[in-house]
Amino acid sequence: MTVTESAPEGHARAGARALHEGILRRQSARESAARTYARTLPIVPVRARGLTIEGADGRRYLDCLSGAGALALGHNHPVVLAAVRKVLDSGAPLHALDLATPVKDAFVTELFATLPPGLADRARVQFCGPAGTDAVEAAFKLVRAATGRSAIMAFTGAYHGMTAGALAASGHAPDVRVVRLPYPQDYRCPFGVGGPRGAELASRWTESVLDDPKSGVPLPAGMILEPVQGEGGVLPAPDDWMRRMRQITAERSVPLIADEVQTGVGRTGAFWAVEHSGVTPDVMVLSKAIGGSLPLAVVVYRDDLDVWEPGAHAGTFRGNQLAMAAGTATLAHVRENRLAERAATLGARMLARLGRLAEEHPCVGEVRGRGLMLGLELVDPEGERSGGEAIATATATATATGVGVGVGQGVALTRTRSAEPRPAAPELAAAVQRECLRRGLIVELGGRHASVVRLLPPLTITDEQAAAVLDRLADAVEAVASTAADLLGRGSTRPGPTRRQRGSTRPAEGTG
Ligand code: PMP
Repeated sequence: MTVTESAPEGHARAGARALHEGILRRQSARESAARTYARTLPIVPVRARGLTIEGADGRRYLDCLSGAGALALGHNHPVVLAAVRKVLDSGAPLHALDLATPVKDAFVTELFATLPPGLADRARVQFCGPAGTDAVEAAFKLVRAATGRSAIMAFTGAYHGMTAGALAASGHAPDVRVVRLPYPQDYRCPFGVGGPRGAELASRWTESVLDDPKSGVPLPAGMILEPVQGEGGVLPAPDDWMRRMRQITAERSVPLIADEVQTGVGRTGAFWAVEHSGVTPDVMVLSKAIGGSLPLAVVVYRDDLDVWEPGAHAGTFRGNQLAMAAGTATLAHVRENRLAERAATLGARMLARLGRLAEEHPCVGEVRGRGLMLGLELVDPEGERSGGEAIATATATATATGVGVGVGQGVALTRTRSAEPRPAAPELAAAVQRECLRRGLIVELGGRHASVVRLLPPLTITDEQAAAVLDRLADAVEAVASTAADLLGRGSTRPGPTRRQRGSTRPAEGTG
């Protein structure tokens, strides 16, 4: 009880605390060891609106995880609530298999109005199971049926979901039926050069794997890519590389599948992230934000790929009317209020401020992002640099063309310091996440080594809220930077992790 608190207030607070702790205790006793966010975010949400979540213990948090990127409009947006209430009050069936309903008709009309022009005129939509991973499975099955081939090409660091096929195409679960290609990235460029040259080499590798008759790689049924890798560590693909992938696949009749599960609905500063490069994919897999916070996923593809027999891809939960209504309201609100443009401008400003944070703290190796998909990579500031010289050259080039701007056509990626990568520091990233939570800020972790702190705020975030988010984050980074040596096992009696442990290939805890 505080000095200003009355006795009943003190009791209420103690009761709320007991409720909070009891629920968390029962969760850890009863739920699977595989639980994810629940481990790193020990909160018990009971109310939420926009950017804010209120816990059972009465604490309030600014939520920059946004349901793993599912909440384009934040929690419980009025247009979403109104759309859901309208369906509930209308007496419409909540479950409708894949039958035609006015709610579904309105959703498809709104969805098609947003599609990239090359696809909009000739699009077909398939309602699959409700998760992103279901849409990925459906897309693979579709392109295999359409081409009669079976291999899938995917990229290092990819994340496409947790069911067998989608997992096989993800970077942390290798599978022989999936051919792995290098995803371009600047800071940890696999070719040690970064920048446009690194992306060019990645494209050439892809081309040679496809054209070399002895590459050991069959012509694939499809190529799947994320225009910005999210779980992979917030890596925006350069627009030129995207166009090259489109050209390479088109010339060889390989369907290009854009996984826009996380990047879609304005998140990256365009309604669909493929619009930045002007690429028209053959197939798009969509989920998360399209359901307006409720489960919904679809595959959208060009009509000539529609070779499926009736019933070729079925499922019980493909007609979630509430999700379709919430999704229609969300898509329309993002479109009508130009929230993609808002994400672009606010995201650029936030990235600039994060850049200053990186300049102040050597443990922030790089900040990067596109629109409101932002990340800070935490590194061991005293760890041995890798590939120093080659990358230093690339930095010099990037700096000459505009300070701090690397790949991604000058909009995607800010490089704020020397570009030679230090070893990833997942323990610092986890500490930043904990310190953020203590300050009432929820952030996500991602990246190859779980060393990237990620921000996915709702597109409705105000300037004041964005400033509050960045203040809390800066404060958390400051706190972690001042104890970095201890956290890394130096300057304390605690033995430090080995280099390999620090560079663990385990996916980030919250992956999903
Ligand atoms: N693709 C991408 C790009 C994703 O980010 C995710 C989820 N993080 C998925 C697919 C899988 O979606 P879900 O968790 O709904 O299965």
